[in-house]
Amino acid sequence: MVEMRDVHKSFGDVHVLNGVDLTVDRGEVLVIIGPSGGGKSTLLRCVNLLEPVTSGQVLLEGDEISRPGVDLDQVRRRIGMVFQQFNLFPHLSAVDNLTLAPRKLLGTPRAEAEERAHTLLARVGLAGKEKNYPRQLSGGQQQRVAIARALMMDPHVMLFDEVTSALDPELVSEVLDVMRDLARSGMTMLCVTHEMGFARELGDRLVFVDGGVIAEQGPPAELLDDPNNDRTRQFLRKVL
Ligand code: ATP
Ligand code: MG
Repeated sequence: MVEMRDVHKSFGDVHVLNGVDLTVDRGEVLVIIGPSGGGKSTLLRCVNLLEPVTSGQVLLEGDEISRPGVDLDQVRRRIGMVFQQFNLFPHLSAVDNLTLAPRKLLGTPRAEAEERAHTLLARVGLAGKEKNYPRQLSGGQQQRVAIARALMMDPHVMLFDEVTSALDPELVSEVLDVMRDLARSGMTMLCVTHEMGFARELGDRLVFVDGGVIAEQGPPAELLDDPNNDRTRQFLRKVL
């Protein structure tokens, strides 16, 4: 579904990704952990081409999307991304946050887009909040709007970059509940997170990224309980 082949990414002299090889199968939930600055966000951003790779290849459903001249809109339509800071449009209601991209990019008629938006907002537990502006929603609610917004384009893959890290602790579970539903519905997901409970429960595979490479990977329980790599062990000692 998603494949990275020997991906390198530099910003000037700073080598951030140093040869990442990764294959994510359809319906797989991949959880990415690792120390700050290790390259987790950069890795996700290379998957949906928010960052062009310096060398190597990224494939999505068998197409090489890292090739020059690829249609970025086409690619990004197949990949939804949700960030730590929800990045909602503050001047738009929840429903208008959802309908903007389909109306502008796909030309979806307003009524049709709104109907789908209502369905998705209900799916993330926000029925009745359609007309609220972001400032009238809690952090957990805003993040659920952001997830629903990403789902509007019917993505084939969803990328989550520390989506619960900015939330008050009591709001984390409502966002994880939405991610759990999505995982169970068969969505292919790449999730950078510090939620080790989530990793253990829903991750099909856990990947430890450090120094711009995948230093270790395996089934979550195995990696969390008995890491092979010293760096993984040190990291887990700090976060668990
Ligand atoms: P965190 O856990 O803090 O989110 P991370 O693993 O997501 O960290 P990245 O954000 O991928 O790490 O950053 C990896 C390295 O790349 C850092 O040293 C960072 O300073 C550098 N970096 C990231 N984006 C850029 C950029 N646009 N320009 C220059 N350097 C960058
Ligand atoms: Mg990051």
